[in-house]
Amino acid sequence: MKSHQIQLTAYPKGEPGSDHFNLVEVDLPALRDGEVLIANRWLSVDPYMRGRMSGIKTYVDPFPLNGPMEGGAVGEVLESRSDAFKKGDWVMSMQGWRDAYVADAKLVQAIDASILPPQAYLGIAGLTGMTAYVGLKRQIALKDGDTIWVSAGAGAVGSAAIQFSKAMGAKVVATAGGAEKVAYCQSIGADAAVDYKAVDNLAKAIREAADGGVNAYFENVGGTHWTAALEVLKPKGRIAVCGMIQRYNDTSAQPIPDNLTNIIAKSLRIEGFIVSDHMDLRKDFITDLSNWMMAGKVSGEETVREGLANMPNAFLGLFKGENRGKMLVKL
Ligand code: NDP
Repeated sequence: MKSHQIQLTAYPKGEPGSDHFNLVEVDLPALRDGEVLIANRWLSVDPYMRGRMSGIKTYVDPFPLNGPMEGGAVGEVLESRSDAFKKGDWVMSMQGWRDAYVADAKLVQAIDASILPPQAYLGIAGLTGMTAYVGLKRQIALKDGDTIWVSAGAGAVGSAAIQFSKAMGAKVVATAGGAEKVAYCQSIGADAAVDYKAVDNLAKAIREAADGGVNAYFENVGGTHWTAALEVLKPKGRIAVCGMIQRYNDTSAQPIPDNLTNIIAKSLRIEGFIVSDHMDLRKDFITDLSNWMMAGKVSGEETVREGLANMPNAFLGLFKGENRGKMLVKL
């Protein structure tokens, strides 16, 4: 059987282009004992993948050039030589950026597509939702009555963070790019939302929207947002540093905010995290998420692109703000 996969042709400097990606056909090996043949149905599209295109090892290896890339994916078992799976089962894996693969059954995880749509396991019920949960529960330790600012609020993690924060009893100010995204943030519970592209002074706009300032900041953007956060956080404020997408394609020297001393003056607590280091919270996450979903407090929004060939454009679209909620590719 043939499989089609997207391969990286070169490590981009600055903004990647479609010429950095190649759609390649490969032969799949015959199935051996303990292996499964999977047809992917949904691919996850994530900003962190940009880091793996840098050619530099960080907390994870870079993608190989002209070889298979990785990413979250859900698919159906076409054939199984493992007792753990049968034809028609839904599974989740890191074998994304391709339409089919053969793998050791231990490398795929069963999902229950009768409870939630299968793609939800890549979004609100997957690592995306878990990322928002970890940042709020562990880094920020959000409390009833806190006021939190969530940046990239209309994105996958951000929209989850808004809804979870509301469910935890906090007041939420969100930022997003454009009037439509601002309205979306409010529709999912943000008490106020600011179009960061339309304001000259982000800190002033957040302070006004938050009636004075915030106790907590969920950082998805970095750069100008980071500087504004150091201004608007109240004493003893907490920051969960989840992502800094404003920097991912920026090759210029990283400017040091001139208000870093606020960290001392306000006794701020700042902590970065990688979601995969906090999987001990997975059980609590599923319990809370189930309760919130059943109470109608949380739902998952998706932006869907069709076809494997559109995977690179879907990825590049993240950096142009083309998604609302989770960016997915449907195969
Ligand atoms: P998003 O769905 O938020 O997609 C990206 C969004 O970021 C865009 O829609 C856009 O929204 C905004 N954006 C893009 N470029 C810029 C820019 N130059 N300046 C400001 N905003 C920009 O992605 P995710 O929800 O998947 O990820 C959110 C963040 O969380 C990312 O930084 C990601 O790297 C990080 N992350 C971290 C994890 C961890 O373990 N620490 C795990 C998963 C994600 P808009 O139109 O509003 O500008």
